[in-house]
Amino acid sequence: MREGIRPHDIEITPLFSGSSGNAILVSTSGTMVLVDAGMNCKKVVEALHIVHVEPSELSAVLITHDHSDHIGALDVFTRKFGIPVYATAQTWEGIHAVERKPHNAELDHEIETGVRITLGQFEVLAFDTPHDTTGSCGYRFFTSSCSASIATDMGYITDDIFQTIKGSDGILLEANYDKDMLWNGEYPYPLKKRIDGQFGHLCNDDCAHAVAELCKNGTRHFILGHLSKENNMPQVAERTVLRAMQEENLVRDRDYTLRIANRYTPTAPLLLSAENKEIYLQEIVV
Ligand SMILES: [Zn+2]
Ligand SMILES: [Zn+2]
Repeated sequence: MREGIRPHDIEITPLFSGSSGNAILVSTSGTMVLVDAGMNCKKVVEALHIVHVEPSELSAVLITHDHSDHIGALDVFTRKFGIPVYATAQTWEGIHAVERKPHNAELDHEIETGVRITLGQFEVLAFDTPHDTTGSCGYRFFTSSCSASIATDMGYITDDIFQTIKGSDGILLEANYDKDMLWNGEYPYPLKKRIDGQFGHLCNDDCAHAVAELCKNGTRHFILGHLSKENNMPQVAERTVLRAMQEENLVRDRDYTLRIANRYTPTAPLLLSAENKEIYLQEIVV
């Protein structure tokens, strides 16, 4: 169990992040859930142990979509630990298609985007994301006084996504690729077009613009995630966001915090305190 989380706080701990695999631990007092289970079961369990969590302590696994970097561990993990899994109907079709052995069907829960559900101490709202598979979604988590959003694997930020995640205390947002690195890089042309398309991934520039707008709308804490190994670098993504924030006179560690999720190892947890949001609200420049 994660320590130091008081009632209504939310903590976001990316376990690993990127096209090689994604898993994010989202915790509040009494409830912990995993968003996505990429890589393999062993890697997920190892990463959970690093942050002092046993798989059996999880209340649920929420899946964003059926690409292998998000469900690679799910088949074995579900059979081994019997944790309830939540996904949209279309994502379930994709999950079942790659399952090697069936698991207890009572663990399967279908969610609908736009409909809030209760998961332990969390309320959870799934929202549609434009990506090249059907039924893909992101998630916003609520306690009575705090909220956090996870939004990755999307070609662009739709109005609906922006309105849904706006006002979250903390957001993990995709910063997948730098446009110049992608288009000057080694990928074949059709793949470049797919990544840069409306149903591909979010580029650093679009991410940076969104971070600035979200900060102006009250979000104080950002994690950049799902960085491409070939078409991005942490420093490049960070620099792009910092530049966009400077243009809006938003100052790091005064108006907002920014961190980059590690590709292979757990990232320092981001604790969103239900009590001391005021620290960051004193000097907002809008
Ligand atoms: Zn992905
Ligand atoms: Zn994907």
